[in-house]
Order: sequence, then C-alpha cells, then structure tokens
Amino acid sequence: MCDVNQKKQRVLIVDDEPLIIAILERALQSFVEVVSAATGEQALDIARSKPAPDLILLDVGLPDMDGHEVCGLLKSHHSTVDIPVIFTTARDLTEDVTSGFEVGATDYITKPFNIPITIARIRAHLETRRLHHEIQQQNLHLDLLVQQRTLSLEKEMRSRREAEKRTLYRAHHDELTGLPHVSLLRTAVSNLLRTSPGKPFAIALIMLNGFQEINNTLGHQHGNKVLKQLSQDLSLASRSIHGALNVENEGDVAFITRLDGVTFTLAFVCPAGEQAALEEIAKLLLVLETPIDYQGMSLNVSGNIGLAMSPYHGNDMDTLLRRAHIAQELAQQKQPHVSMYTEEIDPYSERRLSLMGELKNAIQESHLSLYYQPQIDIKTKRIANIEALLRWQHPEHGFIPPDDFIPLAEQTGVIKPLTEWVLNEALRQNVAFNRLGHRLDISINLSARNLREPDLVDTVLAVLNQYDLQPSRLVLEVTETAMMLNPQESLKTLHQLHEAGIQISIDDFGTGYSSLGHLRNLPVNEVKIDRSFVMEMMVRQSDQILVKTVIDLARNLNLRVVAEGVENANTLEALGEMGCDIAQGYHLCRPIPATELLEWFKQYGT
Ligand code: C2E
Ligand code: CA
Ligand code: CA
Repeated sequence: MCDVNQKKQRVLIVDDEPLIIAILERALQSFVEVVSAATGEQALDIARSKPAPDLILLDVGLPDMDGHEVCGLLKSHHSTVDIPVIFTTARDLTEDVTSGFEVGATDYITKPFNIPITIARIRAHLETRRLHHEIQQQNLHLDLLVQQRTLSLEKEMRSRREAEKRTLYRAHHDELTGLPHVSLLRTAVSNLLRTSPGKPFAIALIMLNGFQEINNTLGHQHGNKVLKQLSQDLSLASRSIHGALNVENEGDVAFITRLDGVTFTLAFVCPAGEQAALEEIAKLLLVLETPIDYQGMSLNVSGNIGLAMSPYHGNDMDTLLRRAHIAQELAQQKQPHVSMYTEEIDPYSERRLSLMGELKNAIQESHLSLYYQPQIDIKTKRIANIEALLRWQHPEHGFIPPDDFIPLAEQTGVIKPLTEWVLNEALRQNVAFNRLGHRLDISINLSARNLREPDLVDTVLAVLNQYDLQPSRLVLEVTETAMMLNPQESLKTLHQLHEAGIQISIDDFGTGYSSLGHLRNLPVNEVKIDRSFVMEMMVRQSDQILVKTVIDLARNLNLRVVAEGVENANTLEALGEMGCDIAQGYHLCRPIPATELLEWFKQYGT
C-alpha cells in the first residue's frame, strides 16, 4: 500500500507558544510537512484551504478562542470534518481530555511532550489517516468501475435485445419487400380461430403477373425494385380493407404478407358473406391495374386474386390457402380478376376427382369425340378451315360441355393426354377429309398448360409426320390469356411451332389484357375475335368499335382475322364491310360430327 512517490502528509500545529511549535516542527519535519498557526482563526483558515492538513495538533488554550470551540467548528464543516484532531494539553488538565473527545477529537498528547511517544502516536494517526484515505480512494475507484461495468452491461444488454429483435424481425419479414412473412398471418389467423370460432373471414391470395417480362427486359435488380414498390403500394392499399387482420405487434400495423415469389396473402373478417368479401378485396385491384411509375417508365403488372372463406371452405390456414390458390387460378380467366373458391372449381374435390379419373378412361373407352365447325372466307364464300371441338359423352351424366371439363383437365394435368388424343384424332380425320377431296386446314385448341410441356413441339411434329401432313395445314389456337400466363416459356414454344411452319391463332381475342400493340411481337398468323363481342356487335356499339379496331389492327399487321360467334346474316354482312377475312358461327354451321359435316359440305357446295 505504501507508495514511494507519495506526497508528504501535512500536519498543522496550532499553539500560541512559538517554542512549542518549534519543538514539534523539529520532531516531525523529517517525515511530514509542517504548517503552524498561533490563533484559532488562523487554524480554521489553514484547515479550510487546500491542500488540507492531514492532522491537526491543537492547543486547548488559545488567545482568541478555546481549542474545543475550534475543534467543534472543524467537525461541523464538511471540508474539515474528517481531519483528525489531537489536543495538546497540560498533564494536569484531564477534564480537557474528556470534553475534547466530546467535540470530536481523535486523541490527546500531554505537555511537556515525550518526543518519541509523540512521534509514534502522530505516525500511527497519520498512517490510519492515510489508510483510511486509500480505502476511500479505492472504494471510489471500485464504485466507478462498478458504475462503468453496469453501464457497459446495460449497453450490451440493450444491443443484444436490439439484435434479438432484428433477428426476430428478419425471421418474420421478407428481406426483399420488407413485408411480414406469412408465418405472422398464420399466428393471427389461429388466434382469431381460437378467440372467435365460426366468425366468417376470408383469406385472399394475390398473384402478380408480368414480372417475368420486367425481369427479362430490365434485369432482376430492377425487377426486385419494382416488386418492392408494388408490394408497398399493395400494403398501403390493404389498409382500406375492412376487417383486415393486423399481423404486427407492439403498435406496428401491417396486413399484407408475402407468401413467396410474386404471391401475397392477407386475411380479413367479413361477416356479410362471400359477395361482400369479393367486393371488399376488389379494392386492391386498382393497385394491380394501375401501371407502375418506375424511373420514368410506365410498367404494366397485373394480378389475380383468389378468395376462400372460413367457415364455409375450411377451418385451418392450409386448407384455406390451398383453396384460395385454386380460386386465384380461376381468377386469371375472369374479368375483373377476382374469384371465390367453390367446390365446383376445385380439382381436388371428391366429385371432380372421380370425374377426372373417368376422363382418363374416357380417352381409352372412346367416350370422347370431336365435332367440327367450318370457317368460311367471307369474300369468296369458300370453306377456309375447320375447327375441331371436343365432346364428352359421359355414360351416366350424359353430355358434359368442354367448358366444364377442360379447366379441370388443365388443373390436373390430364390435359396433356387429352390434347394428344385431340391432335391425333383431328389429323386422322383431316386426312380422311382430304381423301374425299376436301383439302382443308384444321384448327385445334391448345391450353395454357400445353405450352409449358417441354415435348409439345416434338409431339406435334411427330403426329404431323405420322399422317404425312404439311405443318402449314395445322392451326393451333391459343388464347390470349394462355400466352400471357407464362410469357417466357410460352413464347419460346410458340416460336418453335411457328418456325416449324405451323400456324398460330390467338383465340378469344379481346377478353385478355394484352395490348393490341403487343401482337406485333408475337409469332402469330391469325386473330380470332372473341364470340362475346361478335354475337352482340349489332346491338352494342362498344362491341362493334372493338371488332372494327381489332380488324384494322390485324390487317395492318398482315394477320388473318376470324370472327367467331356469327349468329346471323346482318353480322356476317357487317363483318364483310369491316374487312374481316373469315367467319365462324351458328349462322353458317354449328359444330357437328365428321359424318354430318360431310353432308353439310355437299349442301354447301364444295
Ligand atoms: P372456343 O375455342 O372459343 O370454341 C368456340 C366455341 O364457340 C365452341 O364452344 C363453339 O361451339 C362455340 N360457338 C361456335 N359458333 C358459335 C355461335 O355462333 N354462337 C355461340 N354462342 N357459340 C358458338 P364449345 O364447343 O362448347 O367449346 C367451348 C370451349 O372449350 C372452346 O372455346 C375451347 O376453349 C374449349 N375447347 C373445346 N375443345 C377443346 C379442345 O380440344 N382442347 C382445348 N384445350 N379446349 C377445347
Ligand atoms: Ca378455339
Ligand atoms: Ca374462341
């Protein structure tokens, strides 16, 4: 504990006799610094100034005041209270001693001094004082250390808590869009199911279209930024959805969560039922239908929304999500692009599943057949082409229209063998027609899903080869929506088919969402205006304008224009005047089996 560099301690000697001061000074000066005072006033001044003495030797009898009084004053002031005071007193005045201790003295020494004992006592007191001081210092230091450590611990705890919060946030939020992860929605939904069982709520699944194109044109980095921007718009718009479940806690608010890729989901309470839920969620369509303003470009992204409702369609998140997904797939073909789950559209519902099994058998057991509908060149009146249309005669349910089973076949994958069957059957029939002198092109319908089959091109070419038919005699009809569903893959397949010489026709044109200008970049030969416009064009001006616009544009692009759904002579005439090339419809001929068609050919006069 002893520090060699330590400063000498300081002793204040208070005595009105200079001799006493001189004696004590002489005895002490080798190991302390001595200061002296002759009066009580002086003593107080020195004691209160810096550096303060470490010990005071105080004579009881002073000229100006009593030593006890001086000691009392020293002990009553905070700056001097700690300084040990030793009274120096004549041997016979022992009552001085007791009253000295009462006012706070530490010790007393009697005069005349026994120098060695005096020195030893003073040394002992100074050492005590020094140790006391040192302990005080150490305590202070320790306090400081503890304080610092507490502070740094607190800081560490704080940053650990923040890191934990960040990790938790990252685990629950999508890095790219910053939107909450679907796990948070799961929690919110199971809370709702637990606290309000049976309360009607909807799960919405929102799927964006058009990102493939943006990624391909602008690159993934920009694609991601556009996705982020759009998800923020969606998130903002979701605040207007009545009854939407909040998925954040601690005062934060968010409704939309990212499921994966370009799929988002949210849930909202809707006691008013299915129709009200559809109307509520349609609020988000505006965001999906408005072009995005990105770095001065206007980008078109669209989306479809599928809904499933608890308790009608399920009582757990997974079932509801799966069913919302089924509804969303259907929504792609609807206008507006929103749809509610029903059992009828569910490929996995029991009735549908058994029907699908039967459809597979139908292919083998020849319950399927093709009907044919001719297409007439409006100017020359000659038969230009025939379209093959699929028919299913079910042994129990009777006739099932293609609009009922084809979407199912698409969802379950049965569409592949089905299309192959149609292709085979149609080309076989075409060869038979040829042999009878009817050299006609034949159109068959492809589904969106067919365009994603990697072996489609090979299959089509193999069947053409089998019947020794030129590729140009075959027209493949693909809907505008099918082309847009998976533009990249679909376009590649279409290009390959087109390059092989097969004709491509855009079916149901006008019902999808592609711009007319988009046609320029597609490998197509023909545009078929959707029958819904043609059927009403004589009574609805807006339909007539659309028909006319499509005809003009298609002619500009050197594409053949077919109008389907021609149900009367007026329409046929008007189409001719507008410059439409080909007509198809009940007015000319209904779809009929091959044998009947041969009869019709005779009557029509070919
Ligand atoms: P689509 O390709 O648009 O076929 C034309 C539909 O319009 C046919 O219905 C046809 O019967 C009907 N139609 C023709 N003229 C008129 C008319 O003047 N008025 C009215 N109201 N309708 C007319 P269909 O045969 O019921 O086929 C419905 C849809 O089923 C087809 O529409 C097509 O999308 C699909 N489809 C039919 N056969 C096949 C097939 O082999 N493969 C695939 N993937 N889809 C098929
Ligand atoms: Ca068609
Ligand atoms: Ca059509």
